[in-house]
Amino acid sequence: MINLDYQRATTVADAIRLGAEPGSAFIGGGTNLIDLMKGGVANPRRLVDVSSLPLSAIAPLPGGGLRIGAMARNTDVANDRLVRERYPLLSQALLAGASAQLRNMATVGGNLMQRTRCYYFYDTAFDACNKRRPGSGCAARNGHNRIHAVLGASEQCVATQPSDMNVALAALRATVVVQGRSGERRIPMQDFHRLPGDSPQVDTTLGADELIVAVDLPANAFALHSHYLKIRDRASYAFALVSVAAALEMRDGVVQDAGLALGGVAHKPWRVAAAEQALIGKPLGPETIAAASRWVLQGARPLEHNAFKIPLADQAIARALRTAGGLT
Ligand code: SF4
Repeated sequence: MINLDYQRATTVADAIRLGAEPGSAFIGGGTNLIDLMKGGVANPRRLVDVSSLPLSAIAPLPGGGLRIGAMARNTDVANDRLVRERYPLLSQALLAGASAQLRNMATVGGNLMQRTRCYYFYDTAFDACNKRRPGSGCAARNGHNRIHAVLGASEQCVATQPSDMNVALAALRATVVVQGRSGERRIPMQDFHRLPGDSPQVDTTLGADELIVAVDLPANAFALHSHYLKIRDRASYAFALVSVAAALEMRDGVVQDAGLALGGVAHKPWRVAAAEQALIGKPLGPETIAAASRWVLQGARPLEHNAFKIPLADQAIARALRTAGGLT
């Protein structure tokens, strides 16, 4: 039995005040946090339930964008008419994640905060995990590391970010809107998740007194040419070995704008601006696709068991871009 305090927040200000106290953790759908608590990986002294806050609306923004409330359930976002019309990439990514039951519970805010699926992080029988116990080492670095990172890893941690939604949000250049005691802050998606560096216990740039309240999607012309490709060990209810979110604005076969991000390869959704620039202004074809892939995978370093991820990512990038661009 876990002894803890439970408080249901009734306002955002209330949630921020309660959540800022040491030992507190926000809970929305609970689809990740409850697992972590059952396994003894997370041990909050107080749960601040934010699921009743009025933050589940999905509404157009002036200028053609869309605001998705942090408490919107993954199923509701995936099936929302405006999301499907304007951002089908996001809908595809959400439907590729988890199971229907989990998507019915999981929230956008919780999905952003989803923690790695590294086996050693979840299994407290292993002492060495810098993310779980800073300074203890990394059992995965020389252990079973088939699912781990090939980009942006550090000596201290080689974990990957597991979310599908986050990969699509990165390609779509979303902004995470947060509120804290000093007011509202807007965090570009590429700055929300961190690389592990020397402090892999910190997944995001969210402050201790901050609550995610929404995700803003800017207007774009990607809807006709986007594709989310997820490569995994089984066809459903599995995390990505490699995933690609590809979004293109095309005119007469020439790429006008591009969004490209990878999942399953790094501690954060992996988006390289130079890869997108390699596509823009050129016809979509084998040479431009290969150039974009080279930029994305520049500096990739395999571990003992995951070298396969690099050619897999190269081929997945090509397939996702070809599908998005209507070449296949
Ligand atoms: Fe822990 Fe990160 Fe190493 Fe996994 S990869 S054991 S999460 S430190």
